[in-house]
Amino acid sequence: MTSSQSREVAADVVVIGAGAAGVCAAIAAAKAGARTVLVDAGPMPGGELLTGMAVDGALNARGEWILGGVGRELFDECERLGGYIGPLNDWRLIWYVCFDPEVMKLAVARLLDKYGVSLLLHSMMYEAQSHDGRVQAVRLLNKSGTVRVTAPCFVDASGDGDLAVLAGAGFDLGGPGGEFQPLSMMFRMSGVDTDALLDYLCCAPENFALGESDAIRGGRSDAQIAQEVRRQGQPTVFIKGDGPLLAQAIERGAMYPTALIMIQPTSASRREVCLNSTRVANVNALETGALSAVLGPLAGQIEMGVDFMRGNVPGFESAVFSGMAPRIGIRETRRIHGEETLSEQDVLQAGKSDRGIGKGSHHVDIHQAGAGQVRIPVRDGGSYDVPWGCLVPRGLSNVILAGRCISADRAAHGSVRVMGPCMAMGQAAGTAAALLAGGDWAGDVRRVDVAQLRSRLSGDGAILAGTH
Ligand SMILES: Cc1cc2nc3c(=O)[nH]c(=O)nc-3n(C[C@H](O)[C@H](O)[C@H](O)COP(=O)(O)OP(=O)(O)OC[C@H]3O[C@@H](n4cnc5c(N)ncnc54)[C@H](O)[C@@H]3O)c2cc1C
Repeated sequence: MTSSQSREVAADVVVIGAGAAGVCAAIAAAKAGARTVLVDAGPMPGGELLTGMAVDGALNARGEWILGGVGRELFDECERLGGYIGPLNDWRLIWYVCFDPEVMKLAVARLLDKYGVSLLLHSMMYEAQSHDGRVQAVRLLNKSGTVRVTAPCFVDASGDGDLAVLAGAGFDLGGPGGEFQPLSMMFRMSGVDTDALLDYLCCAPENFALGESDAIRGGRSDAQIAQEVRRQGQPTVFIKGDGPLLAQAIERGAMYPTALIMIQPTSASRREVCLNSTRVANVNALETGALSAVLGPLAGQIEMGVDFMRGNVPGFESAVFSGMAPRIGIRETRRIHGEETLSEQDVLQAGKSDRGIGKGSHHVDIHQAGAGQVRIPVRDGGSYDVPWGCLVPRGLSNVILAGRCISADRAAHGSVRVMGPCMAMGQAAGTAAALLAGGDWAGDVRRVDVAQLRSRLSGDGAILAGTH
């Protein structure tokens, strides 16, 4: 190989980033008939869907589905492959969807293949060739040398908004004081005794986060909620950082400071759960050296967390470490400036819009340093609409945003970043991109007829109305 080797690829739609948003965008574009190329810098499509975490924001806190279409098709594929657990109430703030992340790897690969999406893995997009706000091509670097990919329409699902920024879009980065939500490494433990864990919850509910919104609490006491969790029969509980068990462990140095230890099931046959608790805050993940330097500390926290669980939490005495995420989890980097901006009020008031192309329902969820976390529920356990303009980067005519880089204020981002809305936005972006590539709306993202797009999305199973 020499560095001068270069290849040309022509597509109808190019999707940059194969996380939850990009996978759904690529599937939607391919289903709509577009020759679709899905590019990722990493080795495996699926992003955080593969780390063990549940999908939040697929249902609202009343238990109504707000995600349909491609996202649901991925869950159906998991079910077909024997790895679907399904929707669970966390009895704290939300409902989420649990599944086996190993099976999700298969499901993502099977559906991309089924719909004929061309994958370019191990390929970093590093350049956008654009003129007057229109991207003609992107350049990728991979083992084959450089690849120039041309298309009439692009989806930026890179999480970081790399394509939009390379093409000239403006953005906000993290918080106003240079703060960033923590980087975390998800990990799993198998051999968990669910009955013993739920018995402990019922004996000592003061150690657990329960009923943090009226929609979930519904007038119940903590003891009553603990009984509901036991009735649900799944190992899904949240050990709280300010409860005696965890607070005392943090105090004596037996645990690192953290807001919660979130425990969710991944496999009944392996008696396995995923744990979300590790954290290193205020690192700019766009600085690759700083991001990489966090791996060691996060691995150290996992070791400590496993010891803590085995030594202190009934049900975990014989559990073992069984896996960690394939990459450091990044919650927050850039928010691209769009034609419209999702606001904290839109989220908290469950705002509806006739320009909505997908829904979210997750609370404003901003993890902070140490044991800090902001958690503000959506009104009445409802959902809000994500308006199309939040996916349209200001000043660009053929790039559509999807996923955690869309246009939102920081608080709204703390909600819309979760995977349910990312998947819904992915479907909307991929569908619109395919139609634009086919010549609809003069090929300009700013001229999309949102009513037409909504009607097409509804026809394809997306949920845009009819829920709280
Ligand atoms: C620790 C943690 C816990 C979380 N917990 C939950 C939870 O329980 N439930 C939930 O629903 N959500 C949760 N979230 C949020 C959610 O997982 C993410 O916000 C969401 O998955 C983002 O999806 P995305 O597709 O927008 O971006 P990403 O998943 O970040 O995907 C972007 C992809 O683009 C690729 N890429 C980036 N730049 C380039 C480039 N220049 N060239 C080529 N490829 C590129 C990356 O390799 C990556 O695969 C959590 C997040 C973290 C980090």
